[in-house]
Amino acid sequence: MVSVKCRYCDRPAVTIVRYAKLNLCTEHFSEFIESRVEETIKRYRMIKKGDRVVLAVSGGKDSVGLMYIMNSLSKRIGFSYTVLHIDLGIDEYSRRSRKVVEKHCRELGIDCIVIDLGIDLGFTLPQFVSKLRTKRVCSLCGIVKRYIMNAVALETKADSIATAHHADDILVYLFKNFILQDYTFLKKLVPVSIGVEETVATKIRPMYEIYERDIALYTILKGLEFVDLECPFKNVKGFEESIKKFIDEIENRAPGTKISMLRKYAKTFSLDRQEKSIDLGRCSICGLISQKDVCTFCKLTEKAFGQAKGSLVKEITRSRCTTYCVKPHLN
Ligand code: AMP
Ligand code: ZN
Ligand code: ZN
Repeated sequence: MVSVKCRYCDRPAVTIVRYAKLNLCTEHFSEFIESRVEETIKRYRMIKKGDRVVLAVSGGKDSVGLMYIMNSLSKRIGFSYTVLHIDLGIDEYSRRSRKVVEKHCRELGIDCIVIDLGIDLGFTLPQFVSKLRTKRVCSLCGIVKRYIMNAVALETKADSIATAHHADDILVYLFKNFILQDYTFLKKLVPVSIGVEETVATKIRPMYEIYERDIALYTILKGLEFVDLECPFKNVKGFEESIKKFIDEIENRAPGTKISMLRKYAKTFSLDRQEKSIDLGRCSICGLISQKDVCTFCKLTEKAFGQAKGSLVKEITRSRCTTYCVKPHLN
């Protein structure tokens, strides 16, 4: 059998990128993905020369891959970044995730801020769940992670916080919230959410236009270690699975549809159209952004443990960040 050659060299192709009509070898595929992320960063003006970025890394295939992509782009674009890992205290799953993230940070020589829920805040995610007797574990976990990411980005005075959400993640949320007609959430699914000084950090999604399949392949072809354990709390909903199948079917018939949908969506809710969060108030306990007098994180931690933990997150982050990440700008 004659193998298909790479478009750019004589090596055999390892994959076909259908939306770009390209057969690529391992090396050219990696270059292709890195330059696609670079184009995404530039298209949506996510990062500029001299910026300091906090990158949230869970240890899964997406965020581990993005860590390495950011490593090569940081030199090309001229920004610096620090990794943030949140150890949720979910048994073996969290132990392995943390180990993997710390190992990659050591190998790349990148500062790593670890916030350990159990040690730093006095509770693990499973303890939080059982105190609140909630079944909505993923949404509680999301509240904790978003709160910590925001606090760390603000305390380190970073220009932005990056997550490894990819095109497929975002499209599923987009369709789901459209079906549920939840426009508040829908408006947040943009490549860049501009922050407000001292209360909410700017959020960026450098993999806004990268497919799940491609970032998985990138991480695997690079031979990078990642955690492939499912979170034991993960509860895959039939609803989301159906949306995913539906979007994949459309993509199959017309490769590139996912990207054009996301581009049009980003244009509709482009930067100048984003509602400024300035009108939102601050939490009377921790001072971070809140729609009500007390933010959800402070309210829930107070309910579960008799003490709102927002200010503690701030203190911990502050003490950790002076040693780790306040770096001079590069220019
Ligand atoms: P998820 O909410 O699990 O879908 O994750 C979305 C993104 O949040 C990931 O791509 C990471 O960038 C970030 N993230 C998730 N879990 C963690 C964690 N434990 N520590 C740091 N970042 C995380
Ligand atoms: Zn090649
Ligand atoms: Zn608060």
